[in-house]
Amino acid sequence: MVGAGIVGATAAWQLARRGVRVDLVESGETGPATAAGAGIVQPWRPAASGPWADYSDLTGALYPQLAADLAAESGQDPSYAAVGGLTVSRDVAGLRDTATALESARLSRGWTGVGEVALLAPGEATERFPVLDPAFAAVWTGGVGRVGGRQFRDAALVAAERAGAVRRPGRAELLTDGGRVRGVLVDGQALDGDVVVLAAGAWTTELCAPLGLRLGLGPMRGQIVHVELPGRETAGWPTVMTLGEEHGHHYALAFPGGRVVVGATREAGAGFDSRVTVAGQHQVLDAALALAPGLADATVLETRVGFRPVTTDGYPLLGAVPGWAGLVLATGLGANGLTYGPLTGVLAADLAVGEQPPVDLTPFRPDR
Ligand SMILES: Cc1cc2nc3c(=O)[nH]c(=O)nc-3n(C[C@H](O)[C@H](O)[C@H](O)COP(=O)(O)OP(=O)(O)OC[C@H]3O[C@@H](n4cnc5c(N)ncnc54)[C@H](O)[C@@H]3O)c2cc1C
Repeated sequence: MVGAGIVGATAAWQLARRGVRVDLVESGETGPATAAGAGIVQPWRPAASGPWADYSDLTGALYPQLAADLAAESGQDPSYAAVGGLTVSRDVAGLRDTATALESARLSRGWTGVGEVALLAPGEATERFPVLDPAFAAVWTGGVGRVGGRQFRDAALVAAERAGAVRRPGRAELLTDGGRVRGVLVDGQALDGDVVVLAAGAWTTELCAPLGLRLGLGPMRGQIVHVELPGRETAGWPTVMTLGEEHGHHYALAFPGGRVVVGATREAGAGFDSRVTVAGQHQVLDAALALAPGLADATVLETRVGFRPVTTDGYPLLGAVPGWAGLVLATGLGANGLTYGPLTGVLAADLAVGEQPPVDLTPFRPDR
């Protein structure tokens, strides 16, 4: 296993608990997406239909149980909670359309993960997220969750180790033998294995380059700000997103202890430049105040920067690589990897042991 983000850590845990011998190699790059991710778990974005549909349904169905299993097997809190979500706007007609579409999809597709759907008038949304601009109306979806990427990843690492996985700090390079990947080289030491699972996020492209593979995968920088509302209990606050592009890709969510997270930039041209920039900081805080003016007096705690692993067509890379026996790719979840990462880790584990995953992964074939 290469990469200990949410995908690789989950896959290592899933393999180890099946009794498979696992070496988990992690190089500690600057800006791993999992450590910066906001944590909104909303498995009916980005699309309710097409290749994402079954994947989304399965994610919605599995996430709460997977988080509960992880808590039990790691003894740590993976920090997942079904807090519900607000999609806010001043466009009440647009919100009504969204609520109707969600409700009918919930009934027709059996989307239990969406939870209760309700239209909230201006003012009502503020009762649930008290620093929100009271002029916003909202659609409430009770099934939205939030998760701390670092906590989920760390719990998965502990559970993996408890089940027998061995963590190997260092940068992996692929070792090949004819048309087969036979293992990895880590700081000069060869680790042989039947299968190498690459879950190296945005760095997967450079790892595969020596094999002549062109993946159509690269980094999209995100800058995201954590603030604190001293003395406020925020653990149960819902996530807040905007309808369409009203405020770009901006949102807010909360964690226990008064911590509110506001994000995020989406910067496709920044490469692996991990700096916090003036424009990025300004954009995020400006949008945060437009959404939630009650944050004006919050304390700025930190800005995190991470590289989302994005593909040119927006679909993940999940599956074996034709022409290279012993290689499985599991990455490319872009802006939705804290939502889809745990399921992707589970399915990568299935693929590594030669089991048929329960959903059709053809659209996500790495060689498409
Ligand atoms: C600002 C921001 C906000 C986000 N918000 C959300 C959100 O609200 N909801 C949501 O669902 N998703 C969100 N995401 C997306 C999500 O965080 C990512 O899609 C997800 O974390 C990707 O996980 P990963 O395991 O594929 O990659 P990563 O977390 O990037 O992990 C890859 C790991 O591989 C390691 N690695 C790289 N090269 C090597 C090598 N050669 N050898 C060994 N190890 C290596 C790296 O050090 C890294 O730890 C957000 C992302 C960002 C940046």
